[in-house]
Amino acid sequence: MNIFTIIRRLLFVPICASCGERLSPFPDKRIVAHKRVCLCHSCYKKWVEATGELCSRCAMPAYKCKCVPKMLRNDFTSIPSLFFYEPESENVQNKIIYSLKRIRNRELTEFLAFELYPHIMDEIENKNISRDSLVFTWIPRRKQSISKYGFDQGRELATALAQIFGKKAYPIFLRKGGKEQKLLDVEERKSNLERSVILNRNLLGFPITENRDDISLILENKNIVIIDDVITTGSSMKRAVDLLRTVCNGEIILSSVSKTIK
Ligand SMILES: [Zn+2]
Ligand SMILES: [Zn+2]
Repeated sequence: MNIFTIIRRLLFVPICASCGERLSPFPDKRIVAHKRVCLCHSCYKKWVEATGELCSRCAMPAYKCKCVPKMLRNDFTSIPSLFFYEPESENVQNKIIYSLKRIRNRELTEFLAFELYPHIMDEIENKNISRDSLVFTWIPRRKQSISKYGFDQGRELATALAQIFGKKAYPIFLRKGGKEQKLLDVEERKSNLERSVILNRNLLGFPITENRDDISLILENKNIVIIDDVITTGSSMKRAVDLLRTVCNGEIILSSVSKTIK
């Protein structure tokens, strides 16, 4: 553990992302191999159980479950996730998603990225893709939510994942206005996204050191990983994939922290 991490944890005492308990700045060896301080011992135990819960359709844990939302089934045979999400429940998984959306917590996003990493690696190996060709991106959060909470959890996740792979995360998509997806039905979600999620053609937010003219040049011969926190109907991912196909001929890998199975 480097000195900066220790100083950061001494200044900003880490708290459990699930129950809010104050945590020791030094990782508990019983807890995690990747040394992120984001869950107390008892919540971590619940987390391990949660990630082992079986899919109600295929009876596999989330990381092995190949169930894909209907609208993505033609293009994807699996979307690696860590657990199943039930919106109304009070379980540890929900508290983590709640915390991920509301409190910027580097320890938590890095923890989730490390947990997702081996499952994304499996996808990459199955598709025979080189790690070097990967570009990471995310489904952008609504502007109103970014100003309310001060960050975009998708960006944080994509950045943490890209770092593990030694790559960068790029804002391939932008979001303009639009309503909150969870308040809408399937058809409304689709038209809401069509209006509000767009390609970042001018590459706003891309590192200025990159010599580029056009998004399709940046994405040439690249394979893209799109990350999101929760997949429900798959409409955001579908919109992103459709947009991406117009400028990229590489493989696309989708991954999410959690998914709902209906
Ligand atoms: Zn806890
Ligand atoms: Zn399944």
